[in-house]
Amino acid sequence: MWPERPGLVVGRNLLVNTPTPDPPIGNEELLIPRTMILKRTFILIHWALGMSLVHKIALLVGALVCSVANTKAQENALGQWVTLGTSGGPPVHVERSQIANALVVGDAIYLFDAGDGVRRQMAFAGLPEARIKAIFLSHHHPDHNADVGPVMISHQTFGSGVMSVIGPEGTSTLVAGLVQANQPTELASFPTGGPKRPSVAQSVHAIETGSPAVPVVVFRDENIEVEAIGVPHFQVAPSVALPRMPQAVAYRIRVGGKIIAYSGDSGPTDQLVAVARDADLFVTEVVEPAAIARQLSALMVGAPAAARESIINGMTHNHLVPGEIGRIAQAAKVKKVVLTHFVPSPEAVDNIENFTRDIHRQFNGDVVLANDLDRFTP
Ligand SMILES: [Zn+2]
Repeated sequence: MWPERPGLVVGRNLLVNTPTPDPPIGNEELLIPRTMILKRTFILIHWALGMSLVHKIALLVGALVCSVANTKAQENALGQWVTLGTSGGPPVHVERSQIANALVVGDAIYLFDAGDGVRRQMAFAGLPEARIKAIFLSHHHPDHNADVGPVMISHQTFGSGVMSVIGPEGTSTLVAGLVQANQPTELASFPTGGPKRPSVAQSVHAIETGSPAVPVVVFRDENIEVEAIGVPHFQVAPSVALPRMPQAVAYRIRVGGKIIAYSGDSGPTDQLVAVARDADLFVTEVVEPAAIARQLSALMVGAPAAARESIINGMTHNHLVPGEIGRIAQAAKVKKVVLTHFVPSPEAVDNIENFTRDIHRQFNGDVVLANDLDRFTP
């Protein structure tokens, strides 16, 4: 199942190499359940002894606040999926940032893809980049990995521990190259105060998932367990010889007893049914071929129809159209579909129901069109 290649670090190695977690930062909310128990005990005792009406109201309000805070603590354990950027494709857009997601569990942040602008989107979301524990890459198209380098430098400057960068074949090469390319930046030695910082090479660890045929665990820590599965996304010859095309992977994440499935880019495949089986959230790309065709007609004036058709053909074989998402979601019995990585942006489509109509024809559950900085609890 795991490809045996010299020097390749495969995901299962991470099960023993996962760095020791850092002490939690600002985890007051996680301490609230114990506080709540003490306060409720206090309430019962004094209630029984008889108190003034004002005191009783004050204590009721306190208990209510504790209950709300406790709910928030439970949500923290479940994790929140934040769609930092929801645009697909190499171009950057005004209305949406490139594809990037953050899974926030307590004080830990895990990125799933890191397109252009991910650090700024984290700032908008109020997510401290120093808390990033790992980056999971679906594949090596630039809209998905463009900002791995900036996040690596940010981690070396502000973070702690070893950040894992996990992805399909090519991830080790990408990380090693970024370490090398950032040597001048490292030598410039941005002043942070305190003891000497670890080097970039010491603060990052590349893990390759291979392209497993069934979901295989590639990461596990105290918060999440992540499986990867190979999916097809690179069949468009002749720009690259087919044997040299690395595959993409989709991820299945267990967090707080729930399941989140994430597909970066993928052609139609039952591999996604396997990775999304019974998922509480199925976060997936979507392309709208009719809208893409209209855009191409405007952009490629005078080009032969065959050229446009070739592009559309590539899009439908390497990405998911709404009808295919509906088929996968229904077959996998997922609870909610979250659409992201839009091509084109919903803002450029006449009727945004074009993204959902064919999904609803096959899938009975909820379908949500994500915006940048939306939050989803599984
Ligand atoms: Zn993409």
